[in-house]
Amino acid sequence: MGGDEGLVVRKIRHGTVIDHIPAGRALRVLRLLGATLGGGRRIAIVINAESRKLGRKDIVKIEGLEPRVEDLDRIALVAPTATVNIVRDYRVVVKRKVEPPAEVRGILRCANPTCITRKPGEPVTPRFRLVSRDPLEYQCVYCGSILGEREIVEQLGGPAPL
Ligand SMILES: [Zn+2]
Repeated sequence: MGGDEGLVVRKIRHGTVIDHIPAGRALRVLRLLGATLGGGRRIAIVINAESRKLGRKDIVKIEGLEPRVEDLDRIALVAPTATVNIVRDYRVVVKRKVEPPAEVRGILRCANPTCITRKPGEPVTPRFRLVSRDPLEYQCVYCGSILGEREIVEQLGGPAPL
């Protein structure tokens, strides 16, 4: 455990520490959680912290937020290696690895422009099945197109924020 990891994990009273985020993706994770952050929350971000597992990693600490299951699923899509620590009264009460969901509905967009899910006015919700965890790959249920990790990260996190 490096010094900066201790610093980030210990100081929070209630909230969430998202650790082992691939280096450079902390702001994408935050952006994905943006809808639930609300105003005035205190947030700490460590970018390029040292990690024995990953070499370099990012850490996000959000005071007063406990993510919902659907938020965790989305974090897994941009940060499949992330671990989520829920903290109450300075103690980690939940520690879990995020899991890329077996199926994703509606969040991702198929890369194939002729896919039925991209027809204008077509009410078909995009659906993808997990076909690989490392590297992360999802397959469109309708046309079979593969979405790679890089495309997924770009779709869900927007353009590189830094
Ligand atoms: Zn498709």
